[in-house]
Amino acid sequence: MRPLVANCLRFILLALPLLAHASLPENSSVPGGVALVPLCSVSVCAAAPQAWSGKQPVLVTADHDEWVAVVGLALDTTPGPHELRVKIGEETKSQQFAVNAKEYPEQRITLKDKSKVDLSPADEARAKREIAAIMKLKLEWRATPDTDLALMLPAPGELASRFGVRRFFNGEPRAPHVGLDVAVKRGTPVSASAQGIVLAVADYFFNGKTVFVDHGNGLITMYCHLDRIDVQAGAAVSKGQRIGLSGQTGRSSGPHLHWSVVLNGAMVDPELFVAAKPLH
Ligand SMILES: [Zn+2]
Repeated sequence: MRPLVANCLRFILLALPLLAHASLPENSSVPGGVALVPLCSVSVCAAAPQAWSGKQPVLVTADHDEWVAVVGLALDTTPGPHELRVKIGEETKSQQFAVNAKEYPEQRITLKDKSKVDLSPADEARAKREIAAIMKLKLEWRATPDTDLALMLPAPGELASRFGVRRFFNGEPRAPHVGLDVAVKRGTPVSASAQGIVLAVADYFFNGKTVFVDHGNGLITMYCHLDRIDVQAGAAVSKGQRIGLSGQTGRSSGPHLHWSVVLNGAMVDPELFVAAKPLH
């Protein structure tokens, strides 16, 4: 066998198991979850189909012999039948999938700094501007050949407050918790959950010092309340690379890391991506 052919074969043999065992997040078709929607078998559709949820493109990956849409479902998704618009070759069709109901637990938090609960008009205006800026960042789409869906917990620690809990600050109902809190001391190194490009860094009223990492194809992670940020927008980061130190900047009842995962513009449960399992 000629060396070139042997090298090509070796590459194919090495690459095949990676393609066949793409790590997918846990299938959890509920508000705040991720629905894995099979689209077409790889043997029938040679090229990856494209999929959209409303106007937002959706990540599509191969798992064994199946192209699968990995659909982020926002917490306010109505349970019931939903559909994706799917383009296979020149053909466009709609693909149905079901979203089931889920009840998330309640959490009551007491904050001593009342100025972070009852906002001044200036703070209110600032927070509103920042929420709009975050909304825009969440909708970013950067097409990449592949996206690592097996995310690393950004800091080792106890999972303090889970995704989706319905929160009350000093007895007043507030927006539900759209991230995962990891209990870590101030100054703990915080790592990028997977390789990507730093989409933005900011210092927000609620989230404090924040880093956004874009992993491609609509998967974005967000790291909040940092004490220090060690990266700049546009920088490439590798999985596990330190992006800053944890802290309690912004609205925070104590030092912790708030970690959010965004998929096709929806904030979803980060735990579904940690120790990601294959579909079958
Ligand atoms: Zn949090």
